[in-house]
Amino acid sequence: MAARPGRSGKRLRLPRRQRSQALAEERTPGLYLRISVTDRCNLRCVYCLPEDARFASSRAGDDELMALARWVALAAGVRKIRLTGGEPTLNPRLADHVRHAKTLAPIVGLTTNGVLLGPLLPELRDAGLNRLNISLDALDGDSFRRFARRDGLDRVVAAIRSARRLGFDPVKVNAVAMDGTDYAGLVRFAAWEGVHLRFIELMAIGEARAFQADAYVSAEAMRLRIAAAGIALRERTDRDEPTSRVWSIDGHDPATCSVGFITTVSQPFCATCDRLRLSSQGKLFTCLMDNAGNDLLELLRSGDHDGLVARVRRAVANKAPPAEFVRHEVMASIGG
Ligand code: SAM
Repeated sequence: MAARPGRSGKRLRLPRRQRSQALAEERTPGLYLRISVTDRCNLRCVYCLPEDARFASSRAGDDELMALARWVALAAGVRKIRLTGGEPTLNPRLADHVRHAKTLAPIVGLTTNGVLLGPLLPELRDAGLNRLNISLDALDGDSFRRFARRDGLDRVVAAIRSARRLGFDPVKVNAVAMDGTDYAGLVRFAAWEGVHLRFIELMAIGEARAFQADAYVSAEAMRLRIAAAGIALRERTDRDEPTSRVWSIDGHDPATCSVGFITTVSQPFCATCDRLRLSSQGKLFTCLMDNAGNDLLELLRSGDHDGLVARVRRAVANKAPPAEFVRHEVMASIGG
């Protein structure tokens, strides 16, 4: 596969000093907090939400969510915050959340479907956003509509390109692995656009509970499909991410584009998981498969800050791998 002329490795890369600073930040002690700033979504991805999805009738206010994030950071120590959802770009105060998160942690990321992202990018960058993951499951309009049950492919691709132009580096593209996924096409797209592709193994969560066993494709099977299309991947020995094994694409600078496999199902990373999730209802979850959660909002609203700190600390101390790898609610409710 030929590298895109004038793109790979040339522009928009962080200088070496900043890259090593970014790596040092990743290794800063502290937990990784993911905050769902809304449970609502403008897509209806078949593995996530039903067509007639019903969203919570009430949620924590934005100021309450920010206050909860601050208490969690105070109680548990946080090195990285990711804003997610639902679809976080539906929250009109997203930039305020980024600015606030930046006061709590050096790394602030966003996971978005990208449909509404393009026009927001300059403000989000100026607010301090320094990690960006954009979900994209398909590269042609019909397949996109089949996965997302809505249109939006052109706007997602335009947002990916704007993010690169604005200097976001790395830009990661997340694709949920399904039987009909165009694995090789997405790898070629990553190489061409200069982005880092992460395939996520399909989990038995939300809508996918009904068909996960049939539609599941393991990371190993994905690599075989990519190799069968004539693309050589090389595993990076400097495995740089706690949740995914990262491979470079033959002929391309691994700093510019790569492929990773988030092997939540075939090789769960529970033993090294340092993630906490704060839902848009103000509950703290210590595992994606935690079906109960810890209500923090009631304690915030009653002004019981000592109780709140104690509940966070107890939840963190009891963080453990799940008894059963199934989530009954949709991922959007907890923040994917
Ligand atoms: N709306 C945003 C987005 O699309 O990126 C953020 C929320 S979404 C729930 C976060 C991530 O969860 C996305 O990358 C999505 O594809 C992934 N996801 C949702 N359901 C999943 C499932 N059953 N298995 C694996 N990944 C899933």
